[in-house]
Amino acid sequence: PEPSGPLPIKKLHESIINRIAAGEIIHRPASALKELIENSLDAGATSINVTVKDGGMKLLQIQDNGCGIRKVDLPILAERFTTSKLSTFSDLSRLTTYGFRGEALASISFVGHLSVITKTKAETCAWKTHYADGILVGERPGQSEEPKPCAGNDGTTLIVEDLFYNTPTRLSALRSSSEEYARILDVVTKYAVHNPKVSFSCKKAGSPSLDISTPSSSQIHNTIKLLYGHSVAKELVHAKASSISKKGEKKSDNPEAWAAEVYFTSANYQAKKMIFLLFINHRLVESPRMKRAVEGVFTPVLPKGSAPFVYLSLLIDPRSIDVNVHPTKREVHFLNEDAIIEKIADGIQETLAAQSNSRSFQYQT
Ligand code: ADP
Ligand code: MG
Repeated sequence: PEPSGPLPIKKLHESIINRIAAGEIIHRPASALKELIENSLDAGATSINVTVKDGGMKLLQIQDNGCGIRKVDLPILAERFTTSKLSTFSDLSRLTTYGFRGEALASISFVGHLSVITKTKAETCAWKTHYADGILVGERPGQSEEPKPCAGNDGTTLIVEDLFYNTPTRLSALRSSSEEYARILDVVTKYAVHNPKVSFSCKKAGSPSLDISTPSSSQIHNTIKLLYGHSVAKELVHAKASSISKKGEKKSDNPEAWAAEVYFTSANYQAKKMIFLLFINHRLVESPRMKRAVEGVFTPVLPKGSAPFVYLSLLIDPRSIDVNVHPTKREVHFLNEDAIIEKIADGIQETLAAQSNSRSFQYQT
């Protein structure tokens, strides 16, 4: 039949809406893992162990020794906008922990099978739960959704299985499991560098060997050496940059105050591609402008086609982060961005220049 005018507008089914929203946050196994690592760090974990099957598409498991989740909180754990980290709107701008909108676990439960085993110090046993589409469910259809008692240590184990089983387009956009696993290792490596006091491990399920293993209570320099190698570590130099505070002013009073710490390789080290670790307020993020500016500092001192290793940790007042940018987007913008980027680049340049003038000032390992 001939089309007769416009078709009726219908509201999408809620589960479809949730799946679309989840896709904005959880792009691939490595982005789910990033959220889970941040949760473990928020929970005060000093040990984080990751186990992966099939590039994280089949299984992504993360075990921590953090504070655990109270049994009473388990029923709403994976609902959207449930969080222990935010209770009033003004908290939004003061927040210093990683996540804060209670969307990560909900999102994961919309696009994968989520199970949790958790134990707080106060509890005598651990509790196991399963979630689908944001709500508590039984292990199999028809089974009780009540948390089940089980053996377990203090802390939390999050198990994500069959990620994107219900979003075939997302699944087909992913690369091979070896490429996804490489991205997972990259996330673990970067968080391990940024958290040298926390021990991290990562391995494939069933494999006897760990692909990453860092000790607890280490130092940044040692962790970089362990994960990026001696050739990076032996050329590592260190610089700091920060806003200048007025006399008698506390940093916390000034929303424009900031401080940065950078570890980077001298001109003696030449990588093919820049290795860039950027943490803003302890979150692994991307800032193409920052990257370009920092890389630019090295252009005059490195041979063409070679690049440095740079690890940069920037602390800024949470009030100056653009809250209109979705917090789970990896790209961030903040107040006085250009000025801060310029000062950091200048700081690196000065250190590099001083370094090449006097070789004897090289970092001793
Ligand atoms: P958010 O981190 O933004 O609060 P999430 O969905 O990532 O939202 O987590 C929801 C809540 O679940 C957290 O606020 C926290 O209370 C709890 N939680 C998640 N992971 C852990 C963990 N590994 N250890 C302890 N509590 C956790
Ligand atoms: Mg979170």
